[in-house]
Amino acid sequence: MGKKDIDVRFNKFGTVSFTSTSKVNDFIDKLEEGKVSGTRCKDCGTKFFPPRADCYKCLTSNMDWFDVKGTGKLVTYSKLEYAPIGFENDLPYCIAVVDFGEYKVFGRISSDLNDDDIKAGMDLKAVVNKLPNGQMNYVFEKA
Ligand SMILES: [Zn+2]
Repeated sequence: MGKKDIDVRFNKFGTVSFTSTSKVNDFIDKLEEGKVSGTRCKDCGTKFFPPRADCYKCLTSNMDWFDVKGTGKLVTYSKLEYAPIGFENDLPYCIAVVDFGEYKVFGRISSDLNDDDIKAGMDLKAVVNKLPNGQMNYVFEKA
């Protein structure tokens, strides 16, 4: 991999802003367009989420973007009662892994869903969420 540029676009992602050095910060531009995106290797077709700039199979950086769309199945989830610094006000919330077939997406389940309604195997979709402070993230909502 070449030298990475410091890109400030990730400052807008998530409850708490953080700065990332990444070649995949188009992710944030896509979020602003309302799209949750991963990357796909043009050489072997493998899809990555979170987006990766390099394919570990081909050892190339020949990547394209794809949109996470349609519905996935909830594989597993965990309800957090304690959270890292900066996330305390969001508690409690559920983090989850959702299987979209060719790839899995890790993220947070929308607080609009009641605990009782969350069941492994249920259909969920990933949607972009704008936070009151202007930050963005994505959450899983009932499909
Ligand atoms: Zn590949």
